[in-house]
Amino acid sequence: MITTINKQNAVTLIGLGAMGITLAKLLLAAGHKVTVWNRSPEKAAALTREGAVPAPDAATAVAASPVTVICVYNHAATMAILDTPEVKAAIKNRALLQLTTISPAEARFTGEWAEANGAAYMNGAIQAAPSQMGRADTPILLSGAADVYKLLIPVLRVFGGGITYLGAGISAAPTMDLATLSYIYGSVIGFLHGARITEAEGLGVDQYAAIVAGITPTFGAFLQHEGNMIHTNNFAVTESPMRISIEATARLEATAREAGINSDFPAFAAALFKKAGAAGYADEEAAALIKVLRHPA
Ligand code: NAP
Repeated sequence: MITTINKQNAVTLIGLGAMGITLAKLLLAAGHKVTVWNRSPEKAAALTREGAVPAPDAATAVAASPVTVICVYNHAATMAILDTPEVKAAIKNRALLQLTTISPAEARFTGEWAEANGAAYMNGAIQAAPSQMGRADTPILLSGAADVYKLLIPVLRVFGGGITYLGAGISAAPTMDLATLSYIYGSVIGFLHGARITEAEGLGVDQYAAIVAGITPTFGAFLQHEGNMIHTNNFAVTESPMRISIEATARLEATAREAGINSDFPAFAAALFKKAGAAGYADEEAAALIKVLRHPA
């Protein structure tokens, strides 16, 4: 088993989509010898001109380096590539860094697969677009054994400086990634409904977007506060009583109906907060809505 990684070490990159190509270029720029493999081999051609070594198949690619980074479409693609007798034989005593976005259950599955095949495994979740990779603050979540994390730090730092190690539980990175995705999509839908309110009143969505960007840091601090309240299971009002949110979401829904704009989002939000009120949480902190969400719909 490898114990250290430095710039002289070869790294294999499997998957040359938008993200994989970026990762390969960053590794080359950092001075690593880079072996690449992609299902569609033509994508390796441009990288070959930049110094990457194309492998004829995935097993040869894995055998070429102590560390293999895989970044493909999804878990099914990962397993289609890795779960062959040739790759299983090649990956023994090597390290595998998973940068494909997968689910917590898929991470546990892949961790068990790696262990059964004698490979050290680390699960990563990239929280940035390809053009944002390689920066000092590029966010990447990691989970897996601490010794594997330490081993991979030189490779991870090539991909981004904003590395957060979440511990040995292999599914922690995909879990936090999925939770972040939930936050993002909730915000996006709320933002877009706000854009419709703005349009319906004849105001500029650009101005609205600037206002949202301006309040985002303080809103982030508010969410952190609410998260800490949930963590400590303390819902005594400190910042925002539930009844304000019950009132605000009902107003959002009523205003949408009056304006004749789509009311799907405010109706959904208002229904949830109404449930919290009916359950007796109106005089608790807004974060007490989690107690409604703890029950299946
Ligand atoms: P992409 O451009 O769509 O590339 C997908 C890659 O997966 C290609 O290399 C493709 O090979 C390969 N692939 C798909 N199905 C396959 C299969 N059945 N067998 C073998 N290979 C298969 O995707 P991407 O943007 O590079 O994203 C890769 C991963 O990074 C995803 O899990 C994504 O969620 C994650 N990620 C992406 C971004 C982003 O902004 N792009 C941000 C964060 C995380 P072919 O070339 O042969 O089709």
